[in-house]
Amino acid sequence: MRLTDDLKYTDQLLQLTKEFSSKFLSATDKLAPHKEIRSLPSVSLPVAGLGGVATLEKFRQHYGDALTAATGPRYWGFVTGGVTPAALMGDWITSVLDLNGSNSGSVAAHIEKDVVEQLRKLFGLPEQFLGAFVSGATMANFTGLAMARQWIGEQQGVNIAADGLSAVKDIKVLAAVPHSSILKSMSMLGIGRNNLVRIPAIPNRESIDLHALEYYLREHPGQSFIIVASAGTVNTVDFDDIAALAVLKKKYNCWLHVDAAFGGFAACSEDFAHLLQGWEEADSITVDAHKWLNVPYDAAMIFARHPALQLSVFQNPGAAYLGDPFASFHYSNYIPENSRRLRALPVWFTLQAYGQEGYRYIVDNNVRLARKLGTYIAAEPALKLLAPVRLCVVCFTLDVAAAEQEAAVDGLLERINNSGVVYMTRTVYAGQAAIRAALVNWRTTDKDIEIVWATMQKMLIRK
Ligand SMILES: *Cc1c(COP(=O)(O)O)cnc(C)c1O
Repeated sequence: MRLTDDLKYTDQLLQLTKEFSSKFLSATDKLAPHKEIRSLPSVSLPVAGLGGVATLEKFRQHYGDALTAATGPRYWGFVTGGVTPAALMGDWITSVLDLNGSNSGSVAAHIEKDVVEQLRKLFGLPEQFLGAFVSGATMANFTGLAMARQWIGEQQGVNIAADGLSAVKDIKVLAAVPHSSILKSMSMLGIGRNNLVRIPAIPNRESIDLHALEYYLREHPGQSFIIVASAGTVNTVDFDDIAALAVLKKKYNCWLHVDAAFGGFAACSEDFAHLLQGWEEADSITVDAHKWLNVPYDAAMIFARHPALQLSVFQNPGAAYLGDPFASFHYSNYIPENSRRLRALPVWFTLQAYGQEGYRYIVDNNVRLARKLGTYIAAEPALKLLAPVRLCVVCFTLDVAAAEQEAAVDGLLERINNSGVVYMTRTVYAGQAAIRAALVNWRTTDKDIEIVWATMQKMLIRK
């Protein structure tokens, strides 16, 4: 039996896995951050298993050439970071322990409570916030909006969690530049994507126009809304004025959800914490961990200050084996997932290993490097910086005639990404095809900026 053999040789299997991992990690600097894999031969299900040793070899043979340094210093796609060494330790141990992160009686819940407390301090949020881990910022936004939906129901005397949506009058979400996952959450929650009311942004910005918002609120007296604030838009890392939104939220009796998926890490830096001013007044807050915290997928946090309402939405009623949801605290009664991985442990490891200062350094360093790249781009006549580099994202395009822009941007991006040196992603900003470089990896240095810039210069077609 392969299984019993593998049990005997677990130590050797871990050793082989460790060797594979070390070799891979020491090569991340040279390995392409991204490869476009169109197709791969599929692997069929074996009747008799191969055992761990041969399976690792087969994995290497089948996928070895397709592997990429997504965890490396020049993966600048989306806004996803890498994995710190201590986070990797914690993640390995998470799988070794295989604890159910929702079991309130085990050490798991204590670790999660402890790490949520540490994160609350890191972010400077008040004690009233209950924090919990979910699988990503999409799920955190979903969780926040589920609570907001329940709250809107309460304003109309309807308990949506118990009686469903049919008795509530339309639920509207007000936002200027919400992330796509807000719309996805609205769809999943039965609010409906068409119930997003897009409030204009300030000219040349992605930050909500407060006058336009207040005008809308004043025009709908007596109605409560869900306001979604962006704390870091993905194209230009613009922030809504959260403190002003908090004032409007109180004045017009609204729910304020802050999507701070990666922008929440501005709190780690003395220079940028002010961008989040007022977020402590929010009702619910999303922060992603697999972004600037540099822990492995999939981890994010939802912070909210209405535990009774949260329990009314996410409780497991009548599940005797889970205990009385009102008598003892159980994470599974506060979030969508029941059983789940102990995602808090890699976070615990990385926070203990690098502390507040470590994260201040990562954030400040990434912003400094992004601004350096932004300075190069701004000074290059063939390119056009589309917004000031506010934090960690550089958004730029080619300075060509409008009719040629789309094709020119696609061509340049393809050359950049095929170089094997760096990976960036495509976007549209202010009606223009554009490229984004998002720097949130702890490993990125000045040398990486120089390597990328030298590579890009070779690809530019000058007039
Ligand atoms: C990345 C991101 C999300 C979605 O996060 P996932 O982890 O991919 O689910 C939501 N909001 C913002 C602002 C983001 O940057």
